[in-house]
Amino acid sequence: PQARILVSACLLGRPVRYNGSAKTLAHDLLARWQTEERIVPTCPELEAGFSTPRPPAEIQNAQSGDDVLSGQAHVVEDTGRNVTALYERGARSALATALQHGCRFALLTDGSPSCGSRFIYDGAFAGRRHHGQGVTAALLRQHGIAVFAESEIERLRDLLP
Ligand code: SF4
Repeated sequence: PQARILVSACLLGRPVRYNGSAKTLAHDLLARWQTEERIVPTCPELEAGFSTPRPPAEIQNAQSGDDVLSGQAHVVEDTGRNVTALYERGARSALATALQHGCRFALLTDGSPSCGSRFIYDGAFAGRRHHGQGVTAALLRQHGIAVFAESEIERLRDLLP
């Protein structure tokens, strides 16, 4: 069977982001992989129980979702609400989906406190990004799943068996 790829639902055109938008990735590879039935969609935040739209959230005082998973950092909405437990739940749900479908690769929306894999925002809600990864990307990588940002789709193609 073809290698399956876990993909952020907003990259597939679903309007599930916090602000009600999608982040549609118009790329021939995505269309091809859909035809080949390789794509397994996930939106960790919706799976955690959030609705759309929702307040923006950022990881505070850490560059990696690993620190959230180990209890050393939190995910907080711009309202001040601590949503760490929900972000962890979303990450576990995405991991369960990946394992269930045998996905060893993921293509996730960069910058998100869940799906970011190369950069995230710094927790001050000032639009400042830094190198880092979100909670779902961290948990997937802890379980040996290779996570790529949408900007790396061609690198993922080159690595796919
Ligand atoms: Fe997209 Fe991931 Fe945010 Fe869901 S959690 S809207 S899939 S970036």
